[in-house]
Amino acid sequence: MQVQAETVTTERNDVIVKTTGKCPACPTSKVRPIVSVPQVPAFCNVLLDNVEAAKTVKMGDIELTYCEDCSFVFNRIFDPEVLAYSPDYANSLSCSPSFGSFLQETSERLVETHDLYGKTVLELGCGDGDFVTRLCKIGNNRGFGFDPSYFGPESVDVGQGATFKAGFYGPEDAVNPDLVCSRHVLEHVEDPLEFMKLLAGAAAPSNGHLYVEVPNATYMLEKPAIWDLIYEHPGYFTDRALVVVAEAAGLNVSAAEATFHDQFLYIDAQATGSDESYLDQTTSLETLDRLVSGFKDQVESTLERWNTEIQRLASAGKRVVTWGAGSKGVTFLNLVDSRSIDHIVDINPAKHGRFVPGSGQSVIGAEALVDYRPDLVLLMNGAYENEVNEMVRQLGVNARVQVVD
Ligand SMILES: [Zn+2]
Repeated sequence: MQVQAETVTTERNDVIVKTTGKCPACPTSKVRPIVSVPQVPAFCNVLLDNVEAAKTVKMGDIELTYCEDCSFVFNRIFDPEVLAYSPDYANSLSCSPSFGSFLQETSERLVETHDLYGKTVLELGCGDGDFVTRLCKIGNNRGFGFDPSYFGPESVDVGQGATFKAGFYGPEDAVNPDLVCSRHVLEHVEDPLEFMKLLAGAAAPSNGHLYVEVPNATYMLEKPAIWDLIYEHPGYFTDRALVVVAEAAGLNVSAAEATFHDQFLYIDAQATGSDESYLDQTTSLETLDRLVSGFKDQVESTLERWNTEIQRLASAGKRVVTWGAGSKGVTFLNLVDSRSIDHIVDINPAKHGRFVPGSGQSVIGAEALVDYRPDLVLLMNGAYENEVNEMVRQLGVNARVQVVD
């Protein structure tokens, strides 16, 4: 999903492509390299129809870079041209019960915390509209969703009605919202401050609340979760960087918290409120600096550990499958030597029979494991451990499930 305020297109190209030594999130040029990750698939969430197409997808390079002032992490050589041709997307996580409960709990919290009953909610980058629909349903609200990749019906009869537009949000779309939300968009835009200003501007006239959710870079650095590095993300937000950008956009942040097993990060904010900065409640620069300094070694040792392990299993004649054909699984199969792995499991039927970009494994359903009889299932996301163990057990498959860390 590439969601972007139309007005910032030219500027973002200048910022990223031409002046590569500058932080895209703040005015400083105090940036330093973290690690290089060459040749990753341009699109991690796009599965291909055949193995030849999968192995010849467009690839891009990542030079992960750290801003010593605001702690934003970004791909210094990100080139939007690599993503210019965007094939069909299938990145909905809604198939998973765990993820569904997370969305439900998040929307319930927002409705309760901000007293959103019979109110108006707006989401920029609404994807399939699921989140807006939940907010409308829970609080009998009126909802609006914008996303260039939206392909569902223009209106849905839920709450006081949800309206969707397959396009960018602009000033002419102002709806005086009581809540403006944006989930997993900011990490895709090349000028995060411009996009945060767009969100702030949408909420300002009605002094609405804001909810912004992104992948959690503090977690990625700390864990380390190296499979979260993907080309589609020019930016990675630490809690500190997200607050810096929100405050630079004139917002008052009232919370910056990790969520969904710490893998995501969100802020609650409002256009007016206390003028006190929230920065001192985020991870300190000292801590982030230490995490960033150790990340390169962590990446290298993690890759070495998994390469050794996969080779050992292959030599012992063990059958290994990975589980979760989302971005983590695709990144894992591309960063390690995965030639001895033939399949990746996914519970989304739309992905079955398709192929992983770059490394070329085929995607199979969980039921196919009954015949394939793997010895080991490498689970890409520990958040689904219980769910996957239960499914494997119910299928009668005698395989060990190991979380890839
Ligand atoms: Zn910065």
